[in-house]
Amino acid sequence: MSKLKLGWIGLGNMGNPMVMNLLKAGFEVSVFNRTKDKEAPLLAAGAKAANSLQELMETCEVVLTMLSNDAVVKEVFEGPTGLLSAASAGKTIINMSTVSPETSRYLNTICNQHNVHFIDAPVSGSVKPAQDGTLVILVGASNDDYELAKPIFEVLGKIAIYVGEPGVASSAKLAINYLLGLNLQGLAETVLFAEKNGVSKEDMLNIINQGACGNGITNIKTPSILNDSYPAAFALKHLVKDLRLAKEAGLDSPLIHPLYDSYVAAEKEGLGDQDVMAIISSLKNK
Ligand code: NAP
Repeated sequence: MSKLKLGWIGLGNMGNPMVMNLLKAGFEVSVFNRTKDKEAPLLAAGAKAANSLQELMETCEVVLTMLSNDAVVKEVFEGPTGLLSAASAGKTIINMSTVSPETSRYLNTICNQHNVHFIDAPVSGSVKPAQDGTLVILVGASNDDYELAKPIFEVLGKIAIYVGEPGVASSAKLAINYLLGLNLQGLAETVLFAEKNGVSKEDMLNIINQGACGNGITNIKTPSILNDSYPAAFALKHLVKDLRLAKEAGLDSPLIHPLYDSYVAAEKEGLGDQDVMAIISSLKNK
C-alpha cells in the first residue's frame, strides 16, 4: 500500500524532529513554517516546501499541525487563507499541538462542516522522544479516522492511546502536563531545600534518581540542573499555557493554583522561552 501524502505545519522544537522521522520512514512530506529557515534541514532531508497553507491542503491527503497555542492553531485552520479555505471532502487534519478540549471540539466541528476528518492527537514526551520516535500519542477521533492515522503514529510514537472522541485527548494531555508541572516544581523545590542545608545538588539528584522518587522526568532534567543551563526542550511559556488551559477546563485542586502562580511568576521574570526546568532559577531567588 502506498504511503499517505502528508503536509506538516509547525517546525518548532517538536515539529522538526517529528517530520524528520516521517521522512526517514519513507513518507512524502510537504512542510510549511512561519519562519522559513527552520524548513532548511527538512528540505535537505527530502521534504518539499509548500508556498501556502492552501497549497498544502490541496496537495496532501493528511495535514498535521504542531503549533504553539489555540489562537495560532485556529488561525491556521480557519483564517482567510487557512487550511479550510482550500479543503476538499475526504481530507484529514490531525492537530498534535496542545490546545484546550473546547478548541479541539470546535476544530472537529468546523472540519466536519467542510467534510474534512479531524483527529485530536496531542503528545506526551519532549524533544528527545520526538527525535527517537518514542512519543506517547493521545488519540481523540472516530474509529475510522484513527485507523487511517495509525501508520503515521507508529512512526512518531512508541504507543498511541485511543481515549475517545476529539476533545478527550486534549483533556488527557492537560492532565498529564499538570503532573509534569507538579513533578518539576517538586524537583526544583527539593534540590534547592537540600542545597540550602548543605547537600550538593549532585548528591541530592543522585538520591532522587537512585530511589523510588526518581522517574523519567527527574532523570531527563538532571543534566540541565547540574549544568544550570536551560535551553528549551519544552518552553516554560507552553507549560504556563497548559496549566491555564487545565484551570479553564475545570481543574480546581489544592495545588493547581499555587503551581500556576509559580510558573506565571517565572514567565514574568523572563524565563518563558527557557526550558520548563528553569523554574528552579525562579525559585532560587525566593
Ligand atoms: P515551539 O518550538 O515554540 O514551536 C512552535 C511552532 O508554532 C513553530 O513552528 C512556530 O513558528 C509556530 N508559531 C508560533 N506562533 C505562530 C504564529 N503566530 N503563526 C504561525 N506559526 C506560529 O513549540 P514546540 O515545543 O514545538 O511545541 C508545539 C506544541 O506542542 C505546543 O502546543 C506545545 O505545548 C506542545 N508540546 C510541546 C512539547 C515539548 O516538549 N516541546 C511536548 C509536548 C507537546 P516559528 O518557527 O515561525 O516561530
